[in-house]
Amino acid sequence: MIEEISANLYRIEVPLPKNPLKAINSYVIKNTERNLVIDTGWNQEVCMQVMQAGLKELGVDMEKTDFFITHLHADHFGLVSNLITDDSKIYFNQPDVDRFKSGFRLEAFLNFARLNGFPESELQKALRSHPGLKFRPSADLAFHILKESDMIRIGDYAFKCIETPGHTWGHMCLYEPGKKIFVSGDHILNDITPNIQLWSDEWNPLKEYLASLDKVYELDINLVLPGHRGIFRDCRKRIQELKQHHQDRLDEIVAILGKAKMNAFRVASKMTWDIVSDSWDVFPVSQKWFATGEAIAHLKYLKEKGIIRSEIRKQKIVFSLNRNHSI
Ligand SMILES: [Zn+2]
Repeated sequence: MIEEISANLYRIEVPLPKNPLKAINSYVIKNTERNLVIDTGWNQEVCMQVMQAGLKELGVDMEKTDFFITHLHADHFGLVSNLITDDSKIYFNQPDVDRFKSGFRLEAFLNFARLNGFPESELQKALRSHPGLKFRPSADLAFHILKESDMIRIGDYAFKCIETPGHTWGHMCLYEPGKKIFVSGDHILNDITPNIQLWSDEWNPLKEYLASLDKVYELDINLVLPGHRGIFRDCRKRIQELKQHHQDRLDEIVAILGKAKMNAFRVASKMTWDIVSDSWDVFPVSQKWFATGEAIAHLKYLKEKGIIRSEIRKQKIVFSLNRNHSI
């Protein structure tokens, strides 16, 4: 489960049972003064056991260990409350901290999901099984806030903070320019596509995500350390693939809408998904939730571009192609 990636930099693979992501990569940088752990796993017993065993095997003194969290999602952030000691710093970004502090806004989620056609019968179940609710940190936490270009220095490593909003409001990556190493969190993954979803009308995550991909494209990177699955080298090639993936998604949604008016849940049910399942009806409800959130993010992007429009019909938001806009 432990792999040495370069001198004093290790990966611990932390399992995420019964989740399509399978596992999360926690990166550990060892140094005599302070150690750094990047991302942690869910706040769940099996994650705790693997992390504790891994850190022990690496001989990491937890009394001298700080944490960097790439983003708010519970698989990266959830376990940190159980791993910190009195002197630990938790490095985190302000936008995600703001969301964490405002709590899991269940009512707002429910209302927005209803407006977007998520069936009432499945709604409660979807939210009860939501990892953000089940596996979040168990304590009130104090954070050390980092911004664009701030540096974290540990031994031979000097990491520069790169703000990459899109996957979450404040997602942050780390770049080591001397070693050309890029810790990508869930901004860039190689074997799967990062989930870009939207559950409020407050922002346009896909627009920000695509801009964040362009930003990272400019960096000279030799090795990408992602939040899930395999480590890889060709970052620019992967960025091009991810941009193409989202363009294909946008094209697919425009084709699905055709001459129809449809809510986001229906649009999601007609999109193609990687999940092995006979039909949308038998999709696990938690995956319907992520799929609908992804559809909403793409619909929002198309709407802001003026390609589609929305209106309220029977207390639901329905989308249709904007006839005045030629594609
Ligand atoms: Zn995530």
